[in-house]
Amino acid sequence: MKIRLMRLLPALLITALFGMGATPAHAEKIRIVATLTDLADFARAVGGDLVEVKSLATGVEDTHGVPMKPSFVPVMNRADLLILVGFDCEHAFLPALLEASKNPRIQNNRPGYVDCSKGIIPRDVPKSTDHSEGDVHPYGNPHYILDPVLAKTAIGNIYNAMVAFSPQHKAEFTRNRDAYLAKLNAKISEWEKAVKPIRGTKFVSYHEHWPYFAARFGLNYVGTIELKPGVDPSPRHIQALVTEMKAEHVPVVVREPQFPEKAPKRIAEQAGAVMVTLPIMPGGVPNTETYIKMMDYIVRTMVAAVPAKK
Ligand SMILES: [Zn+2]
Repeated sequence: MKIRLMRLLPALLITALFGMGATPAHAEKIRIVATLTDLADFARAVGGDLVEVKSLATGVEDTHGVPMKPSFVPVMNRADLLILVGFDCEHAFLPALLEASKNPRIQNNRPGYVDCSKGIIPRDVPKSTDHSEGDVHPYGNPHYILDPVLAKTAIGNIYNAMVAFSPQHKAEFTRNRDAYLAKLNAKISEWEKAVKPIRGTKFVSYHEHWPYFAARFGLNYVGTIELKPGVDPSPRHIQALVTEMKAEHVPVVVREPQFPEKAPKRIAEQAGAVMVTLPIMPGGVPNTETYIKMMDYIVRTMVAAVPAKK
């Protein structure tokens, strides 16, 4: 195997040096690295057999702080395209990795740097530019992918980047994208119908993951356990939240898998609410390995958590 590779090496080098932009008969797969599992899922859907996709996150991490592993560096070094959420969602880990990757193709402002937030209008843009207190949403809330309609913008950005990188495969990317969007559109109608009976339901969560989701499905997102994004709650804040939840009859507390269960559970108990654990990207809890399966899970769990109206 090793000898064969050595013999092949000159040919591979020639392909690498002179084959850029050409259409080799046995083209290598497009190497894609996505920061999060939802983006990796979209890239696989659009790229099909033409791409090889790796996600830095496995699904259970904090989107703002995926723990860095040495294995990320060679993956980033070889990548043709880097797919990210944007709005500085990944600022705690991505800039350092980009530098370590020594890969000019995927640096910011290069065609291989695929910022999926292009075309999204962010919610909750801070009025102050002072982020000394650890606000992890400096350019507004980056959790737009939990709205499946906005997820289509991310899919469009991924599609455009693949077509730009490999224009000879445009027809196949277009076919794959259209098939996925048809499936997603059917699911969106299904989810909207499922959520209808609980429209207007109030809920709180640990981190501010849910404003886009709530807006899409007509739910009433009233607050977070965190003091502000990325800042742990104070006892006074928790007390105020419980008081507000009781007064407003908030029936649901959402806990995201990367946060310990203790505080959300206690708050739910004190306020007479139900705590549910909802993933914020595929793989966050079992049986949510694709975006569609994850959204199915979120909608189903949310609906089941809300007591039926008498
Ligand atoms: Zn966040």
